[in-house]
Amino acid sequence: AATLYIVATPIGNLEDISLRALRILKEVALIAAEDTRHSRKLLSHYGIATSLVAYHEHNEEARGAQLLNRLEAGQSVALISDAGTPAISDPGFHLVRRCRAAGVSVVAVPGPSALTAALSVAGLPCHRFAFEGFVPPRKKAREDLFTALRDEARTLVFYEAPHRLRASLEAVVGIFGTHRQVAVARELTKKHEELFSGSATEVSAHFAQGEVRGEIVLLIAPAEKGAAPREDVPTALERLGAEQDLPPA
Ligand code: SAM
Repeated sequence: AATLYIVATPIGNLEDISLRALRILKEVALIAAEDTRHSRKLLSHYGIATSLVAYHEHNEEARGAQLLNRLEAGQSVALISDAGTPAISDPGFHLVRRCRAAGVSVVAVPGPSALTAALSVAGLPCHRFAFEGFVPPRKKAREDLFTALRDEARTLVFYEAPHRLRASLEAVVGIFGTHRQVAVARELTKKHEELFSGSATEVSAHFAQGEVRGEIVLLIAPAEKGAAPREDVPTALERLGAEQDLPPA
């Protein structure tokens, strides 16, 4: 039966694509891509000549219906986006929902995502995290969101545009406080890759000089209580024992 494959592609480094992704992209009848010109470069790099059609936020409805027709006619389709995993702050959700509702099989071909790549190297707690998508561009919306998330017990992960990073970091300092641990992952897997972390004040100061360029993930550590590692039982017992052993004052 025909399948809709949700295929992850590189977030910068062309080598970050799985063998399975390359095979599926070769085998399907059609690849739906956010930007066909952009994706053509990746595909020609790997000698893949499969037909491409545009599927982006402006034609999701109409194109989604056409893609479902193709799938129902027995042709498999791969969905890719400009970078990383489709449907993660990228088009895809509507098509996936439409296909699942119609009983068409939807299969993940997993791979890179800036979200998981950044989390994996940021050095902030990552056993629990909350992905918030793009930071709202407007000041008021940004401040309201940050205020609502101030006491969050999970690491917060945001996508951010380079020209807005400075304003966002200033808001982080003001709302989450000067001491909150923050990390900025910039241009992951690319030539000018950078991971800068420290207190909100340090990170804000670092990016306050010069123009910020490239693609950015902003991470904010949990509020102190949530961030403190839970003490394991033997350590707690040892500590209690030590406290009892203290000589009388
Ligand atoms: N679907 C993609 C994914 O799975 O990562 C995300 C698409 S979203 C439209 C693009 C945003 O992801 C960028 O603005 C940036 O915040 C982040 N991003 C993408 N590539 C990145 C990279 N190489 N380094 C840091 N952030 C990146």
